[in-house]
Amino acid sequence: MKDPLCPACGGRNVGRVGTVQYYCWDCFIEFSLSPRGIRMFRVEADGELSRMDQVGPEEVMS
Ligand SMILES: [Zn+2]
Repeated sequence: MKDPLCPACGGRNVGRVGTVQYYCWDCFIEFSLSPRGIRMFRVEADGELSRMDQVGPEEVMS
């Protein structure tokens, strides 16, 4: 399985950080893949993750 594209910028500069979690080095966001869709989290300066909008899986997985 190849790594997905970033759901925010569509770029390939994505690294895996967990079983279903990825990090975009361009946007500085983490995102996780699930059957329900993709959850994006912005990594704040203090290390907290803040929830972003969820998008459908077909936009990235296809
Ligand atoms: Zn990105």
